[in-house]
Amino acid sequence: MAINFNRAEFVLSAASAKQFVRDGRAQIVFAGRSNVGKSSVINRLVNRKNFARVGATPGKTAQINYFLIDGKCYLVDLPGYGYAKVSQAERERWGQLMESYFQSEGLVTLGVQIVDSRHKPTADDITMYEWFKSTGCPVIIVANKLDKLKKSEIEPNLQRIRETLELSEEDLLVPFSAEKGLGKEQLISAITDLME
Ligand code: GDP
Repeated sequence: MAINFNRAEFVLSAASAKQFVRDGRAQIVFAGRSNVGKSSVINRLVNRKNFARVGATPGKTAQINYFLIDGKCYLVDLPGYGYAKVSQAERERWGQLMESYFQSEGLVTLGVQIVDSRHKPTADDITMYEWFKSTGCPVIIVANKLDKLKKSEIEPNLQRIRETLELSEEDLLVPFSAEKGLGKEQLISAITDLME
């Protein structure tokens, strides 16, 4: 299925299970640690600046944003995790929302997990990856901020991500730079292939 990512519109923000969208369209679900560049990756995919923040109310970290892509499928933006300055109450809201999201059957068609190519994936990254795998959906790992690596660091760092997350053979690891636009075509074609 060809998907035109340039045709993207904000639909709604869900703060609880009753707002989760279920209309039969496929759902591509994006997750990542706060500051990993998740919004930048999404903005790069849809070719717009400040797009992924459109639905986000400042301070509201515990909500799931839905964007309709090309009238065909949803891009689902899960709230970022691991941000040190978030209050305990907000952290708990995040946990409850994620629990109800991943306990709901049939929401995730494809997971896209964004990690920082400079660092070893965190314990939270591993948990998120396992949540995706528990749904049985395919997962694409996006190693963002590749432009910050020296050439000689790229392969070892990608290998460290594979090993730490214990990626299976069928999981794709896409080196990416939201800043430079690197990896965009590979990510779009991987998403498109997996949606067929
Ligand atoms: P989010 O919290 O995961 O949505 O992260 P943002 O998209 O807001 O990005 C966090 C910071 O990382 C911003 O200062 C971005 O400009 C920067 N950033 C995001 N992607 C890249 C990248 O590929 N390369 C570099 N050098 N910086 C990036």
